[in-house]
Amino acid sequence: MQLVLASNNAKKLLELQALFAPLGVELLTQGSLGIPEAEEPFASFVENALAKARHAAAASGLPALADDSGLAVEALGGAPGVLSARYATLFGRPKSDAENNAVLLEKLAGQADRRARFVCALVAVRSAEDPEPLVAMGRWQGEILAELKGEGGFGYDPLMFIPELGQTVAELASAEKNRLSHRALAAADLARQMREVWHLG
Ligand code: IMP
Repeated sequence: MQLVLASNNAKKLLELQALFAPLGVELLTQGSLGIPEAEEPFASFVENALAKARHAAAASGLPALADDSGLAVEALGGAPGVLSARYATLFGRPKSDAENNAVLLEKLAGQADRRARFVCALVAVRSAEDPEPLVAMGRWQGEILAELKGEGGFGYDPLMFIPELGQTVAELASAEKNRLSHRALAAADLARQMREVWHLG
């Protein structure tokens, strides 16, 4: 089965393609089909992922898969949440990982509760009007450090310390991150649902 991935991120494509290949799924990026990116105006990860999946299915006429992810910090009421990619711009600063991390450290200055989680919503639809989208969530719990540590990954990885591993996500080998991450957990759950509900694999 061909599925359109509502993302043009090459890393995500490789990661998800590997996870869904055993089901006989071939992922195509929406960019390769000339489909523009959808708006992400909603307050939750799952609503944004659903909107992106429906948009890609409508434009392609194929089943579609979309993800939305970010960082939820306990002491900030779940912020930066769906605004994770552009957190710094909320405070008039440039859009970059470095600025996002700097703003996060400022917001948590003097805060003892450092708990946070990476969250990923993955949604698959068989058509644009699918009344029964498959929805999977993955969560990865950690703590926000007071300074950056590690060179790998992207986004908030250098601040996200995983207590069980004794390392930040930026210090993990990429294969290890891809095995443990919020995206990997959501993808494994979605693959299970595709087997059960879509009878794939
Ligand atoms: P997107 O789902 O790729 O648009 O990611 C949204 C934003 O959430 C990214 O720009 C990052 O700031 C943050 N984010 C999502 N996943 C991760 C991750 O695995 N590590 C670090 N930051 C992440």
